[in-house]
Amino acid sequence: MATERTLSIIKPDATNRNLTGKINAKFEDAGLRIVAQKRIKLSMEQAGKFYEVHAARPFYGELCEFMASAPVVVQVLEGEGAIAKNREVMGATNPKDAAAGTIRAEFALSVGENSVHGSDAPETAAQEIAFFFSGLELVG
Ligand code: ADP
Repeated sequence: MATERTLSIIKPDATNRNLTGKINAKFEDAGLRIVAQKRIKLSMEQAGKFYEVHAARPFYGELCEFMASAPVVVQVLEGEGAIAKNREVMGATNPKDAAAGTIRAEFALSVGENSVHGSDAPETAAQEIAFFFSGLELVG
């Protein structure tokens, strides 16, 4: 399997509860390398643009307000099959369905406030990494 990069976001519910280190440990224990990382506060406009693909969904407004409500940690994870591996470590969208030991099973508060975002395919990973990071910030 090829080495990939994927975009991860530690969401406001997790930064509010001081869970950044515990979540990063889950990534690193799974063999994912954090090759770029920064803590930022999204505006409503930036959150809306990032989640544009969900604009027609009933929870879009709520999702954007949540993502802009407190700082997030955006990061690039690298490793063998990193996109799928990260989705595995994250667990299902709804923490009620997430497998034991996954980030969402352990930390998520609800289907909306579910602690982490992870890209779902190579094309979206490339787009999402470029949304937050310049080439100069990706040092490997
Ligand atoms: P994932 O983040 O697992 O890829 P989706 O792409 O389906 O999931 O949804 C994006 C985000 O939108 C979710 O992580 C969650 O924060 C929010 N979301 C999804 N479904 C709901 C819902 N039914 N109610 C509220 N928020 C939701």
